[in-house]
Amino acid sequence: MANYLLTKSSFLRGVQCQKSLYLYKNFYTQRDPVSLFQQSIFNRGTNIGILARQLYPGGVDVTPASVFKYEESALLTQKLLGEGHEIIYEATFIFDEILVAVDLLVKAQGKCMALEVKSSASISDTYMMDAALQNYVIKGSGLELDDFLLVYVNREYIKHGELDLNKLFIKTSVKKIIEKKTAYIIEQVKVSKSTLKDKIIPEKNIGEHCYVPYPCDFIGTCWKNIPPDSIFDIGGINKKKQFELYNQGIMMIKDIPDTMNLSDSIKIQAEAINNNKVIIDMKAITDFIHSLHYPLYFLDFESFMPAVPIYDGTHPYEHIPFQYSLHYKSAPDGKLIHKEFLAEAGLDPRRTFAERLLKDTKEPGDILVYNKDFEKKIMNDLSQDFPEYRDELKQRISRIRDLAVPFAKKQYYAPSMKGSYSLKAVLPALIPDLKYDELTIKEGGMASNTFEALQTETDLFKIADTRDALLAYCKTDTLAMVRILELLESLL
Ligand code: SF4
Repeated sequence: MANYLLTKSSFLRGVQCQKSLYLYKNFYTQRDPVSLFQQSIFNRGTNIGILARQLYPGGVDVTPASVFKYEESALLTQKLLGEGHEIIYEATFIFDEILVAVDLLVKAQGKCMALEVKSSASISDTYMMDAALQNYVIKGSGLELDDFLLVYVNREYIKHGELDLNKLFIKTSVKKIIEKKTAYIIEQVKVSKSTLKDKIIPEKNIGEHCYVPYPCDFIGTCWKNIPPDSIFDIGGINKKKQFELYNQGIMMIKDIPDTMNLSDSIKIQAEAINNNKVIIDMKAITDFIHSLHYPLYFLDFESFMPAVPIYDGTHPYEHIPFQYSLHYKSAPDGKLIHKEFLAEAGLDPRRTFAERLLKDTKEPGDILVYNKDFEKKIMNDLSQDFPEYRDELKQRISRIRDLAVPFAKKQYYAPSMKGSYSLKAVLPALIPDLKYDELTIKEGGMASNTFEALQTETDLFKIADTRDALLAYCKTDTLAMVRILELLESLL
């Protein structure tokens, strides 16, 4: 049985960084943990791949029982091809010590084509590289492909009734493009094989490549000597600029020379870190507080973005709002009232969401959100979907104020915010006793994934526990906003 040294994913890892490839093969357990969010992206890819099989139904699936049995899949693929099977799912090939599996291999009208399915809504250079490697291995195994197609999600498709897979997916022939990459593939394969056979960890300094095209999962290993308050903790500058400083030997924020033309935002961050103090622009904070009109609503939305639309009238990756939390105060020292909405899984939540939101925000008063773009987008989308509520939703949008502004503009900045003005960075700096640590759901991506998973959950106890966890998370977001504003008000 032919064995192999590289797979599609380890090859791509090597293209990004040879050290990453070596560590992956020799120090696998030192990888950074996979977050639930990343895992959900992997799962989404698998699910879309399986759905796309229905474009060519009736094929033979050679997916192995475990990742250690792909060699058997390769043998089975050859056997099926020899027997004249026309559609094979997860068709597997080994050549030049490389193993690849292609989502669909289809023979139709005397032509043979490979189809690789992607869950995203566009084609990237990495996908091309990925396809070029598959094409190289399949051809090397003795099968000449007439075409190679990348299949990806059509964001313009609007679901009406049954899913129309021929409209949900876009198929693009990339054979001509990927064949031009063959020489590069052969060279990269050679480099990667030599890395793995040399048994020496390749020398590679950290750099932009640690994040491009994907965040490397050995950042915990290679970056462990980067101290706190380094230039990588500066917000408002991109990685390229950070590495320019790093490559000039500037590691710490305090080492940035005064002669450098720094933005006001960076100067404030440097001043806060160098003096270990909170920087407050009292005039700006006072103006911000005075610009708000009580009664105040503190509002936060949660949404999820199914790659395959679930509800009629929606498109792939549309933000579907399913939950909000709303705190209300009639005056700075007024009683705090809480309202909330969480959709039932399985039903289109949008209309009920809009109706409840309009009811709960009917009385006058500014609506305070954190990072207004998201809440505004959701309300604008709802006003398109439900024209009968357009005027009222526009009226609510006109009342939106953004609590993130003083932090985004560094009018209030604490060293522990590490350059970020996200709610999760600002809250512990201002209100350390209010924490997300003990919550089951700790951030928005996790809330989205959790709600999406509820769509197919049947265990009633699990559904009840999950709903409680979602409600607790979203409520904490708006409570955090209440407490942050109270703290800013107390400064006056
Ligand atoms: S963290 Fe950076 S240098 Fe280290 S293995 Fe990953 S990509 Fe390479």
